[in-house]
Amino acid sequence: MLVMPIQLATTAEILACQTEHLPELLRSPHPDLQRACRAVREEEFGTAELEDAGLAVASFLARYRDLTGAGGAVAANQIGERRAVIAFAPVGAGTFAPEEVTLMYNPFMRGSGGSELFAEVCMSSVHIAAVVVRQKVLDMGFRRVDGEGEAVQFAGLDSARGQHEMDHLDGVQCLQRAIPGGVHPIERSDEVPGIKDAYMAAYGTTLGKPVPFDPALLRPVTT
Ligand SMILES: [Zn+2]
Repeated sequence: MLVMPIQLATTAEILACQTEHLPELLRSPHPDLQRACRAVREEEFGTAELEDAGLAVASFLARYRDLTGAGGAVAANQIGERRAVIAFAPVGAGTFAPEEVTLMYNPFMRGSGGSELFAEVCMSSVHIAAVVVRQKVLDMGFRRVDGEGEAVQFAGLDSARGQHEMDHLDGVQCLQRAIPGGVHPIERSDEVPGIKDAYMAAYGTTLGKPVPFDPALLRPVTT
């Protein structure tokens, strides 16, 4: 099902919406976004405390989707949780319950299949799009809250999304990975072919989308 934003015409509206209803969301350049998360310790798996922490991350993602119509995944440190957890929204869902969110504790990844460019936006830096290079295929391993191991393979947009969230856990934001000339204020996105479409797709349906390679993106944008 196509997920459409609830008439969020401007980034200012999105930001106002987030600020009012999602006060726990950390926004760039908050220092906690630039610090790596710590691994969940062995003795923490299976505890109610870890389950509650995961539920807080999942609940945030569900509320973000309710409010904005967007948001495919979030990393724990974006809302101040210091343990390494990534939350993924269920595929194809409009709104969803926190219990439907996939929580990945201590995730790790391996990329393959070559690379492509993606235009990405981030709920922690809502007014900026970044063109980044991502691996086409992503194998992720992770632990569930009970400690059991699991593995999943992503391709395309979901692969980029996984790499984006893994970066968050390492204290890296997509803006830092942008190719030269690949950081664009959304308000100026009309000037860069493909970026606005990618942004709208990002907020309507997913984190990012592939953009055709354009040598112009390698030149700094004059501001
Ligand atoms: Zn992000």
